[in-house]
Amino acid sequence: MTNFLTKAELTCGLDSDRLRTDVLLAPYTTMRIGGPADFFYEAQTTPELVNAITIARESNVPFFLLGCGANVVVGDRGYRGLVIHNTARTITVNGTRITADSGAIVYPDLIETAVRRGLSGLEHYVGIPSTVGGALWQNLHFLAPPPKRERTMFIEEVLKCANILTPDGEIRRVDCNYFQFGYDYSILHDNDDVVLSATFELSPASEVAMREVMAANLEWRALRHPPLDTEPSIGSIFKKIEGIGAGRLIDECGLKGASFGDIVVTHRHANIMVNMGAGRAADLQGLIDHVQNVVAAETGYHLETEIDFVGEFDPATTGTPVYLPRPAGLITAEELATRNQKYP
Ligand SMILES: Cc1cc2nc3c(=O)[nH]c(=O)nc-3n(C[C@H](O)[C@H](O)[C@H](O)COP(=O)(O)OP(=O)(O)OC[C@H]3O[C@@H](n4cnc5c(N)ncnc54)[C@H](O)[C@@H]3O)c2cc1C
Repeated sequence: MTNFLTKAELTCGLDSDRLRTDVLLAPYTTMRIGGPADFFYEAQTTPELVNAITIARESNVPFFLLGCGANVVVGDRGYRGLVIHNTARTITVNGTRITADSGAIVYPDLIETAVRRGLSGLEHYVGIPSTVGGALWQNLHFLAPPPKRERTMFIEEVLKCANILTPDGEIRRVDCNYFQFGYDYSILHDNDDVVLSATFELSPASEVAMREVMAANLEWRALRHPPLDTEPSIGSIFKKIEGIGAGRLIDECGLKGASFGDIVVTHRHANIMVNMGAGRAADLQGLIDHVQNVVAAETGYHLETEIDFVGEFDPATTGTPVYLPRPAGLITAEELATRNQKYP
């Protein structure tokens, strides 16, 4: 337990009903792993978010801002400090511009708001678990548009501006360039700014056409990605290697089905590991190490992770993984890609 301050001291500034202690983080992540946070606060509005961050900073309490938990691995020993769960979700529309709080859910909330008003630009990111803040942190992207899927589209393409809270406690409006977006990158990786809200500039389009894009993307994803509700994951583990494909390298090294404990390299898609029930971060880290080592030894490529590791970790599992057989009847992402000659 954090010895920086007590719950009573933190509750001086935070609504005590929504400040809890010793909260297991696994249910707040899409991979369903992670130990307890000393303190856990749900910020339901942007002023509450600003207030919580300000109190944590002024009290020197380590804090972590959590969206959907779709890109973070929390250690089995949990987090020593305050986890702020961002559920500030107001969305407003002004002409072709949509402004969303940073805790707004990209799909369905933000995308449905846009599409119902005939505004195009966000529909490509359908089916990806993300808050607006998380989307800017990682520059949300998808291989689109259908049917050709010739390029990766990035959320930066429709970002007009954002309100941020700087480490000095100043609220500033910044434009898209401020974020220095790249592939799986924004400046938020390297500074302590917090996104409070984002404004997207969209284009008028037919709702029917956008719904066709959404249906095609959802189908494309369903064929390649494990379903989150029954096979929890954090999406792709390793960064794309241009022209080669991290998943293809892993597949070629025969690593599908490799498992430590309840964490397995899914046969559906070699770049995704799933939690079969009681998965631990130590097993996930051990499997990541194993995959990196085998791929480096056999191909010479170093696979870099594209996920965020948060909190305290037990030592990673070592040894030889158990190999689980491929389920009968499964068509893998790589086989689909070979048929279509496309694999991201
Ligand atoms: C099944 C699955 C499929 C996926 N497919 C894709 C895909 O196709 N394309 C893609 O790009 N990604 C994909 N991802 C990854 C993930 O969806 C994105 O990275 C998403 O943007 C994470 O958002 P989040 O709200 O869950 O962020 P979290 O995981 O909660 O947080 C991620 C990081 O962002 C920081 N952060 C969160 N909010 C803010 C804020 N307001 N200000 C500053 N920093 C903040 C957090 O502190 C943390 O460091 C997938 C993940 C899963 C589980």
